[in-house]
Amino acid sequence: MSKLIVAKFGGTSVADFDAMSRCADIVLNDPAIRLVVVSASSGVTNLLVDITKHTDISERYACYQGIERITLAVLHRLAQPQQVAADIDALLGALKDLIEQGGAVYSGVHKDEIQSFGERLSSVLFAQVLRERGAPGLCFDARRVMRTDSRFGKGEPQVGQISQLAALQLQPLLADNIVVTQGFIGADDAGQTTTLGRGGSDYSAALFGEALAASVVQIWTDVVGIFTTDPRLTEQARCIKEISFDEAAEMATFGAKVLHPATLIPAMRRNIGVFVGSSREPQAGGTWIAKDVKERPPYRAIALRKSQTLITVKSPAMLHAAGFLTRVFDTLSRHQISVDLVTTSEISVALTLDEGGMTSAFSASVEPALAELRSFCDVSVEQGLSLVAVIGNHLHSSKGVTGDLFNTLERINMRLICHGASKHNLCFLVQDADAPAVVKQLHQNLFSAA
Ligand code: ADP
Ligand code: ASP
Ligand code: MG
Repeated sequence: MSKLIVAKFGGTSVADFDAMSRCADIVLNDPAIRLVVVSASSGVTNLLVDITKHTDISERYACYQGIERITLAVLHRLAQPQQVAADIDALLGALKDLIEQGGAVYSGVHKDEIQSFGERLSSVLFAQVLRERGAPGLCFDARRVMRTDSRFGKGEPQVGQISQLAALQLQPLLADNIVVTQGFIGADDAGQTTTLGRGGSDYSAALFGEALAASVVQIWTDVVGIFTTDPRLTEQARCIKEISFDEAAEMATFGAKVLHPATLIPAMRRNIGVFVGSSREPQAGGTWIAKDVKERPPYRAIALRKSQTLITVKSPAMLHAAGFLTRVFDTLSRHQISVDLVTTSEISVALTLDEGGMTSAFSASVEPALAELRSFCDVSVEQGLSLVAVIGNHLHSSKGVTGDLFNTLERINMRLICHGASKHNLCFLVQDADAPAVVKQLHQNLFSAA
């Protein structure tokens, strides 16, 4: 196949029948789109997550009813609902069984199994929407190809196996069908359902694109591309027409929700162009992400990640002693804790952790590490902080960068700043409550003149 495009449609793009029909228009307008990756309809994954959090069966059931309502609303708009009614019934029935048979607390494997239903439902419906438009839509179970390890809730894709399975199971179907598959979900070696983490459908699309040597991966969402900052934060945010892999990857890493943080990793490995556009306004253009771009401005965008945890580790005993940092990082690494930003002085280290807020799952994984750190130093934990990242080019060496920043932040209590390690970002922490205003002001200062 000469040119193959993988198109991914996010939750709002497949929220209801009309939204799915707009996505079908996009697919039908481009014969190169042979693989479609869908998210769950908007709101469904949240309801599925809620099911796994409730212990009370009637509360779980109320969430189920919300999912059923969203699903049946699409089903009843189909011209031939009977074509997929049995499949939808079977999925809803299986979900209900898991609710009724689940004990008080779901295990990781059951949580992922439950969360997989959103994409499994939307993909059956979307394939039928395509068929009713005269296209050869075929629903394909992503778990036949998307192999991950068994880290439930954040499965690690096994790229080699995914490529082999895609060649065997998926590639042969693409010539005669428009294959519709699920984002977000995978399976481990034992065939147990896994998920790639919230927002993971973008990542799935890029992994499928890599495995099939696609020429382009399209991410269709609810905004007309990647903006200079989240358009919900300031009306001055502007759509970026073209951006490099490096810069877009930094944006995703530092919280630009429009792309899952890992999306660009497979695209960069294979040099596959990524397009981001709006399924509501496909004619409005969008953003192209590529290896080589015409312009590399010093300031490209501002990203915001809320609910960060800052840990400060201090050991007066380590003054002039070697090995303090090694000991701190060795402890964190043994507990598999991923560190984000770091600043150091001789006897203390401040670091942010790559997780949001102190949720119970987060505390459970971090507390043992903190206990170990407390055995040889003082540890303080601060929450309610936001990480603001200025993304651009040559930021480590550009004249005036910190000046622009400090002018904006004159009256703001900046908790920590990281500058100099990366040429593509400059990051700092502020209180959650200050963050939206800081981003707005910084955006005004850095982008209004351009
Ligand atoms: P989908 O359901 O299609 O995956 P998401 O809600 O995950 O969509 O991502 C789209 C949202 O990302 C937008 O509605 C927007 O508010 C948010 N967003 C955050 N940062 C940016 C940015 N820099 N550019 C565009 N959108 C952004
Ligand atoms: N449905 C999943 C979520 O809401 C994955 C995705 O939409 O990308 O997180
Ligand atoms: Mg998303």
